[in-house]
Amino acid sequence: MSDYLVKAVAYEGTIRAYAVRSTDTVAEVQRRHDLWPTATAALGRTMTAAAMMGAMAKGNDKLTLKVEGNGPIGAMVVDANANGEVRGYATNPHVHFELNEHGKLDVRRAVGTEGMLTVVKDLGLRDFFTGQVPLISGEIAEDFTQYFVVSEQVPSAVGLGVLVNPDNTVKAAGGFIIQVMPGATDETISVLEEKISTVDPISKLIDRGLTPEEILGEVLGTEQVTVLDRLDVEFSCNCSKERFGNAIIGLGEKEIREMIEEDGKAEAHCHFCLETYTYSKDELEGFIDEIRSQS
Ligand code: ZN
Repeated sequence: MSDYLVKAVAYEGTIRAYAVRSTDTVAEVQRRHDLWPTATAALGRTMTAAAMMGAMAKGNDKLTLKVEGNGPIGAMVVDANANGEVRGYATNPHVHFELNEHGKLDVRRAVGTEGMLTVVKDLGLRDFFTGQVPLISGEIAEDFTQYFVVSEQVPSAVGLGVLVNPDNTVKAAGGFIIQVMPGATDETISVLEEKISTVDPISKLIDRGLTPEEILGEVLGTEQVTVLDRLDVEFSCNCSKERFGNAIIGLGEKEIREMIEEDGKAEAHCHFCLETYTYSKDELEGFIDEIRSQS
């Protein structure tokens, strides 16, 4: 089974729900960035939330999440879109601590409890929405719950889980977001609160190997859920030599001239996938010709 998410509604459309299996996506970022287990859980939870928030976006909209706490992992930056493509990195991938008092990876200690969660939605045509809330927990799921309530005024329940094997590889990852839409009755909300407070923690559900549909069944009650859409999810970086080349052109002739004189070449490095692109002296001179032909 590869990664995918489902969008669903329940309780006569008054509850919106998302669930995702993100095991391969988180495994890919763990391998690429050599993340240590606590860092894997922190970035993996953030990427799992991002995958579902990407699915809330429309068309070509994109979003960037930034979790920046005062813990040793530093900033985590994750991009996602409505096509199920997710990419991310952490400033310091080599963070690991002893398990916390619940026997879980101590994400809060890696992330820190003071800082900000920022969501930037790129709605196209230079139209951006930015929402920002202070971190309240550092465990990520609670922080996103807070974001939805405060910044988007949508009461939500968020569950995010990442399980890491003893050899640091990813065993399983996944999550859910349940949102209360206008029109939900008090009865629906109290039934839901009861269910969410008694259901197994998300880490148990993904450890049992449940599919996204089954996760929603556990959280909402199977008879309730209507799946509307299913979307493949994967780690994907859209960087390219051409894109970084355009960024170099944007620096202007003087800067490029200096690169040629100082190094005889230029290198661009992608933080997300760790690809490095090299530009020869000839290619850099070609950029200068391009700038001149445009001016
Ligand atoms: Zn890249």
